[in-house]
Amino acid sequence: MVIPVSTPPIENGAVLVHGDKIAAVGHFSHLKGVVPPGTNVLDIEEGLIMPGLVNCHSHLTLSWMKDKIERGLGFSRWLRQLMGLNATASQEQYVEALQFGMGLSKKAGTVLLGDVLNSPVFSPSMESTVREDSMFIHFFLEVIHPKALWFDTNDMVRCLEEFFISWSLSAHSVYTCSRQALCAIKAFCQERGLTFSIHVAESREELEFVTRGKGPIAEILREKNRDVDGFFRSSPSPVRLLDEEGLLDEKTMCVHCTFLDDTDLDILGSRGAWVCLCPESNLYISGSMPRIDKIVQKVERICFGTDSLASNSNLSILSQLRAAFRAYPSIEPAILFKAATLGGAKALGFERFFGSLTEGATARFLILRYMPCKAHEVFEFLCSESVEERIEQFEP
Ligand SMILES: [Zn+2]
Repeated sequence: MVIPVSTPPIENGAVLVHGDKIAAVGHFSHLKGVVPPGTNVLDIEEGLIMPGLVNCHSHLTLSWMKDKIERGLGFSRWLRQLMGLNATASQEQYVEALQFGMGLSKKAGTVLLGDVLNSPVFSPSMESTVREDSMFIHFFLEVIHPKALWFDTNDMVRCLEEFFISWSLSAHSVYTCSRQALCAIKAFCQERGLTFSIHVAESREELEFVTRGKGPIAEILREKNRDVDGFFRSSPSPVRLLDEEGLLDEKTMCVHCTFLDDTDLDILGSRGAWVCLCPESNLYISGSMPRIDKIVQKVERICFGTDSLASNSNLSILSQLRAAFRAYPSIEPAILFKAATLGGAKALGFERFFGSLTEGATARFLILRYMPCKAHEVFEFLCSESVEERIEQFEP
């Protein structure tokens, strides 16, 4: 069976590959007639062919923190531990973590990844790691506590541009960037047609800070001598704050959205912004789950991320789908699978190459050799069963 995602599943389907591109997708009996003589035929019999998965939000350089922060601490205690660990890390550790994270991601069937990088972390030696792997990474250079409006990222930008590595800017959050900085980062992305990414409504502590300027996040910022009073102006919610500044549109990706009220949902839906769900990270940190049942009703543009191994035990997008479907079994599983493939590719701006099996797309997709169900059950199967161990990545 072939799951193109952009069209319904095809029983007895086939994918014709020419060079490194998909040349055609359809029923085998139709494609047989157009297969050039001498073409290799790979028959996977009872198996499944589907697009590679898209992870829209990770921090691979934090992969060395796997199992170092305990579950269920709540956001502010988790954040304190993360900052403590970060202060001890070396450049070599980050490079190894990137390699380790890429390996895990690839094993879990990821072909396209949106990864957040901080400026002290990137080094030119990462270039060969990124280049040699067949997975495609788009980096978000994260702006956090910018001192001036141009953001300490210049060195990193020079490196990435020199190596033709795909990148754009992201803002860490509404509590670590002023409104002015958020607008400047968004404008930078907008001028270049790039996706702007930001952590949004990840924790109750974030809501407390945004609505009242108080709570554990305010305490952490003050301890770090951040000028909270200098940049803070309250809003009813992080989503409303972004909307007040005109920052929500179809090129903005709001990561987490764990604590949204109905007005937030309406705003995100009407502005056409992306919601990037990382349910296992939310469960890991605070035992909370986004209202995914409501989000899929109100918001058209949905994608998935894993976040980092500091708040997840794996980097598997299928594992995020299982967590979402377990919590909300009434959701149509096809919607979740589409979000994890074509949704993610569109959110990052790479839908011509990844996210669906269509003519002209990159010929890098997933094969599952045995798949005990029919077309109408296939999405439920993929959102319920752990199949990562059996996934093979096809590469031309
Ligand atoms: Zn994150």
